[in-house]
Amino acid sequence: MEIASLLRAGSVALVLAACSQSGSESAATKGRVVVAVTIDWEGAYLSPEGLDALDALRKRLQAPITHFVSAAYFTKEPVDPTTISSITEVVHRGDELALHVHAWRSLAKASGIEPKLSPSFLTGTDKLLEFEDGDTGFDVDLDTYDAPALRALVRTSRRLLEQTHLRVSSSFRAGGYLGTPKLLQAIQDEGFTVDSSAIDYRQLDQGNDDVLSARIKEIWPHAEKTTQPYVIDLPGGPLLEMPIAAVADYATGMDIVDVFEAAHARLQQDPSRDVFVVLGFHLETAAELAGRLGDAIDKVRRRRELGDELVFTTVESAAALAAKTVAAPPR
Ligand SMILES: [Zn+2]
Repeated sequence: MEIASLLRAGSVALVLAACSQSGSESAATKGRVVVAVTIDWEGAYLSPEGLDALDALRKRLQAPITHFVSAAYFTKEPVDPTTISSITEVVHRGDELALHVHAWRSLAKASGIEPKLSPSFLTGTDKLLEFEDGDTGFDVDLDTYDAPALRALVRTSRRLLEQTHLRVSSSFRAGGYLGTPKLLQAIQDEGFTVDSSAIDYRQLDQGNDDVLSARIKEIWPHAEKTTQPYVIDLPGGPLLEMPIAAVADYATGMDIVDVFEAAHARLQQDPSRDVFVVLGFHLETAAELAGRLGDAIDKVRRRRELGDELVFTTVESAAALAAKTVAAPPR
């Protein structure tokens, strides 16, 4: 609610509020590099190795983690009986449980809508990734659904995650990072106030006419690794976008360190203003890739000029900080 009301106050009001505080709170404020480490649970399978890797990273970082969780773990046939305990054991106090949606066929059925099985955001055709348990739809472009169907997917997902009895936040990340205007409007209509899907398409570009990065380019043409939080004006009102700086699946350790160096440089330019860094990895590939994130963060923390500036928090808390100083969208 705090974010929504701050955004609704409008940028003019925010500027006035900031000016009226000058000489007191704002003049004394020192900016920080606000870091949110996020993991996407894709809804494919709960790999014990992935959960162990997540646990190991948490011990190493000693920082809150934001979990963007697909509810498709609850719609498999049969459902893995450890689903609820896996989530409740891994989402610790101080973490954030947020929503991630991929267009799994089983989730569409559970949402009472007709499953759509093309196009794939990986192939651009009706050729979808296949999974051992027979479920499919992971890589279906969510925008193929109409607005009521998207709302049903989002609403059902939230209801399924609430079976954990954990609080589901108002932060969202789209499968394939495909936060199209229609999807963003759907999540807002379902009460979500923060999206964290924007990513630099170049980070995912594997060459060979990569279909996904081309699709992301259409949706987020201006996103860069340094893009700061901004407001997206939707017909239904403002939505706060928290862009992703780097995902361990596509970024090298050096790339991740570069993100922090860029944040540090930005803070030097404007020392009173927080700089935001959202990092990501995936449960299903955590066993191979979570260490990359841990290594990069360790490296950055050891550098005094950088390490002292870092504050680790959730996407929700970072968004609340960002909402006070949000800028216009990048162009
Ligand atoms: Zn995903």
